[in-house]
Amino acid sequence: MTASFDFAGRNALVTGAASGIGAAAARWLDAHGVARLVLVDRDGAALDRLAVSCDCLRVAGDVADPALWDGLDALGPLDHAVVNAGIASGAPIAECDFAEWRRVMAVNLDGAFLSLRAAMRAIPGAGSMVVTASVSGMKAEPGTAAYGASKAALIQLAKVAAKEGAPRGLRVNAVAPGGVDTPIWDQAPFFRDLVAEHDGDREAALTAMAKMATPLGRYAAAEEIAGQIGFLLSDAAASTTGAVLVTDGGYSL
Ligand code: NAD
Repeated sequence: MTASFDFAGRNALVTGAASGIGAAAARWLDAHGVARLVLVDRDGAALDRLAVSCDCLRVAGDVADPALWDGLDALGPLDHAVVNAGIASGAPIAECDFAEWRRVMAVNLDGAFLSLRAAMRAIPGAGSMVVTASVSGMKAEPGTAAYGASKAALIQLAKVAAKEGAPRGLRVNAVAPGGVDTPIWDQAPFFRDLVAEHDGDREAALTAMAKMATPLGRYAAAEEIAGQIGFLLSDAAASTTGAVLVTDGGYSL
């Protein structure tokens, strides 16, 4: 481990930490010596099962609830934040009712704003943050209106935060994964249909979709995205801010 990837003495917030990319990011930070983690997820039971060796505050709650952040006196001081909690949606615009639109915006955008704002307040000076956007916020596909619009807005939010944070040495970057093998896919109706077409074999459905959609013919593992989040948080990326790191197996080329 080089000095650039040493997080000893640092405090970090991770939202959506109970599963997938967020859990992998929490484990990555723990493995790289972080002193204290504040982990937030609405699934408190799953959050409790996440094994980390550092000092850890686990908060079960909804990132889209302003009261959660108002009540989080123990949040700071922080050095880093991973604004990651998100949900999927798959309705075409004509079939997307307003409640579904709002449900997605509430978590993916309002929740990210509240998390990012809390982190900016809790990081007293220099530091770094990463938001988990998506390539769906950059490349249009049918059925991704709410999800894609929320992620496009999140990329812009990160860029504005990067400009606002820069004078005090606070860097803000985004990762934009394509497909990553996590439970989030099971929320998308088209993926449930695809799994049914593959006789319930989820792995086969995911592999078929990756081979069809990506030049590399594979989706990423959550640990791969966590490594990129770790890189962007680390001192190795000291001159990188406002960047969007796309990891999509070439899908958007
Ligand atoms: P996941 O479902 O495995 O993990 C998401 C976590 O966020 C879960 O633990 C969930 O309980 C939590 N969460 C959801 N809504 C919440 C809320 N309102 N308050 C608190 N916690 C909440 O999915 P993942 O793939 O790890 O997703 C993480 C992020 O990565 C999301 O923002 C997602 O949009 C993004 N992303 C995922 C993929 C992919 O293919 N998996 C691709 C691009 C971007």
